[in-house]
Amino acid sequence: MIPVEMPRRAMSGRAYGETVPLLGGVPPAASRDARRVGDGPRQADTTLVWVFDLRAGSACQGRVVRSCPLSRFFLHALSAMPELPEVETTRRGIAPFVLEQTVADLVVRQPALRWPVPAELPALVRGQRVTALERRGKYLLLRLETGTLIVHLGMSGSLRVCDPRQPPRKHDHFDLILAPALALRFHDPRRFGCLLWTDSDPHDHPLLAELGVEPLAPEFTGAYLYAATRGRAAAVKLCLMDHKLVVGVGNIYASESLFRAGIDPRRAARRVGEARYERLAGAVREVLELALAAGGTTLRDFVNERGNPGYFKQTLAVYDRAGEPCRVCGTAIRTVRTGQRSTFFCPQCQH
Ligand SMILES: [Zn+2]
Repeated sequence: MIPVEMPRRAMSGRAYGETVPLLGGVPPAASRDARRVGDGPRQADTTLVWVFDLRAGSACQGRVVRSCPLSRFFLHALSAMPELPEVETTRRGIAPFVLEQTVADLVVRQPALRWPVPAELPALVRGQRVTALERRGKYLLLRLETGTLIVHLGMSGSLRVCDPRQPPRKHDHFDLILAPALALRFHDPRRFGCLLWTDSDPHDHPLLAELGVEPLAPEFTGAYLYAATRGRAAAVKLCLMDHKLVVGVGNIYASESLFRAGIDPRRAARRVGEARYERLAGAVREVLELALAAGGTTLRDFVNERGNPGYFKQTLAVYDRAGEPCRVCGTAIRTVRTGQRSTFFCPQCQH
């Protein structure tokens, strides 16, 4: 799927599924282009983008899949949204550069992130050694000697390693400078990310204290899910996305795991048996591990001075495939709304 802005004139009267020539050819990579569109100015929110499926056409034509205002496109641009595997890939990618380094400075260009960056933070962290880099849910915990920096990538954030003398681009909100030629640079067009500090145990921080189990930890089992969902009438997909139950299973991974486990996402959580929850726990682990394996190939991008780390797109079984044939049985994938979010499933394979 490639989003391209095309003049309304060129698109008027076009039908979904129709093959059309793409003006200006094709952007070099779908994910980069999604980000480029996502980085666009706010006033462009009303601009329509058309999304094309290039599998149906040659390099300079595509099949119209949908059109949507740029603001809605943001919500659909899954390649730009860091989920748990992207955060873990980020952690693995930057860890070798930051561990055991000493903070020379923290330069905050834009403190108005989701929560304001504390004004005293640069003075607080200067001269401190980075002792560990951990992840909890989608939070990165940069352990320093007297406390912890808590970083969240929000909807569109990324961290990369660069030379601090390199001029910042738009939306490069802070640099954690570790050496004359080494900085950790945070980029976030939508500013839903955060940079916070705690000098006590970060796991007791209000943002982290109520988080559920880690999906890749041994405690995440079918028995755990079964016990936690007794009496819960909510859809099983909503429970799977409840961070108090299990962290970091976003919309994409919830849809994909439920497909693998053969469970209808709309089914009441209390009406799923323990054996099926066992399959579901395994499926969640599988999809996350596949994504992590795919992320490994993009690690070099964390030191790519030109762009952002390229978040990866997996081959998805159901997510964002409404109307397309199920890869197992050929039935058209259905979409419904579950708690404000689009849910995708195969009506034949999932029950
Ligand atoms: Zn199917």
